[in-house]
Amino acid sequence: MNVSVVLFTADLRLTDHPPLRAALDAADAVVPLFVRDRAIEAAGFAAPNRRAFLDGCLADLDAGLRERGGHLVVRSGDLVQEVCRVVTETDAEEVHMAAGHSRFAARREERLRSALEAVGRRLCVHDAVTVAVPPGMVTPASSDHFAVFTPYYRHWARTPLRPVVRAPGRVVVPEGAGGERVPAHGDHVGVSPALPPGGESQARKQVTAYWRRGLDGYETTHDDLAADATSRLSAHLHFGTVSPVELVHRARRHGGAGAEAFVRQLAWRDFHHQVLAARPETAHADYRTQHDHWRTERTAGADIDAWREGRTGYPVIDAAMRQLRHEGWMHNRARLLVASFLTKTLYVDWRIGAAHFLYWLVDGDVANNQLNWQWMAGTGTDTRPNRVLNPVTQSKKYDPDGTYVRRWVPELAGLAPRLVHEPWKLPAADRADLDYPDPIVSLSTGLDRFRRARGKEA
Ligand SMILES: Cc1cc2nc3c(=O)[nH]c(=O)nc-3n(C[C@H](O)[C@H](O)[C@H](O)COP(=O)(O)OP(=O)(O)OC[C@H]3O[C@@H](n4cnc5c(N)ncnc54)[C@H](O)[C@@H]3O)c2cc1C
Repeated sequence: MNVSVVLFTADLRLTDHPPLRAALDAADAVVPLFVRDRAIEAAGFAAPNRRAFLDGCLADLDAGLRERGGHLVVRSGDLVQEVCRVVTETDAEEVHMAAGHSRFAARREERLRSALEAVGRRLCVHDAVTVAVPPGMVTPASSDHFAVFTPYYRHWARTPLRPVVRAPGRVVVPEGAGGERVPAHGDHVGVSPALPPGGESQARKQVTAYWRRGLDGYETTHDDLAADATSRLSAHLHFGTVSPVELVHRARRHGGAGAEAFVRQLAWRDFHHQVLAARPETAHADYRTQHDHWRTERTAGADIDAWREGRTGYPVIDAAMRQLRHEGWMHNRARLLVASFLTKTLYVDWRIGAAHFLYWLVDGDVANNQLNWQWMAGTGTDTRPNRVLNPVTQSKKYDPDGTYVRRWVPELAGLAPRLVHEPWKLPAADRADLDYPDPIVSLSTGLDRFRRARGKEA
């Protein structure tokens, strides 16, 4: 019997999965393999929310494979060693997997390729599985990647996408491909109470529902904090329970301004992946340094704690930070506001904020997290690196009647829209009754400090 292995990584689905399709075409039987990579755990990247979501994804993938006559094989340990073991145990000839785009993924792929070649086996890596347009496919004439989104998007939008690959009807798994028990969702500590469930079935339900009642309005409502009208597909995209290629095809078929605006956001996702692929050090280092001497845990510990815990005294900031802990997710507009507040108003190192996000976010993703943080800190690809978002004017604009603030900061639930964004303006007696902190810094003090630090006159 001719056997292939399909190694699942950040592509935990059966629909539109080119490596699985290729493995099935190449062999009579396929080992669908997932390895809990010890290196990811050692790097501290397996935070509770993502670990719990991952378990849901694996359970769902296993169920999908069982419906087709197969099952998922789960192993733990060093990824390269585990894949080689499975290859030997099942006498597989090829291993198929999706391309990854971080330095970690590139090194893993290199190690795996040479280990397999050493035993006469082949590694086949497939592009356009975890992103729609792979890094390097569109480049400007003078560089290996685009540093500005708008020209990138023009090229990205013109790039033909591969067709969507249908889910297989049947998967035959060879004898002897044993693994661990596929974990059930739910036995994790430290998980956000409102964490959504993972898995391809859930992702497909969400896409169907969003296409019905959210997509057409996306262009006009995506910044409305209280409406919560975005797709919430980011964790599914991160774990690959939905395919970005399929989403772009479906949105384009649907058509209209909402779908177009949604596709543009998917291009942002690819944009950051191509920056990280070309400049892997930007996971930790400034993309474009502004020669900052950031405040850190040592010099701004109390401010950082207040920010993390949602008690800065700025209602929209506190609402957003509490949402993050409760759901493992935060609205994009809120992410921009809290990132601007930490890096500009408090002038704290973006890496501190990025690490906190990576701990809590179920969609926490090195490319999109670190590079969005850098964008807002002004050390990334933003062409206006010194822009500062004012949390009061922004919350009045994107949460005009204060519904979002009241949802997450119950201390302010009784305040009128006029005051809910600025409780410090309450008459002294009413203010004293409120169990809510005063602002930890005035916006003008924060702005002066930031401008001086960046060499701009205050
Ligand atoms: C400081 C900061 C940190 C962020 N960290 C992450 C992260 O770790 N992981 C992550 O996936 N996104 C991150 N984002 C981007 C964005 O906030 C989320 O992708 C989005 O809020 C997810 O919600 P949604 O799925 O409803 O998005 P929708 O608005 O429905 O957008 C659809 C999809 O487009 C992609 N997308 C949307 N906005 C962006 C963006 N600005 N950059 C890249 N991709 C985008 C996402 O995959 C998203 O699921 C971050 C943004 C900021 C400002």
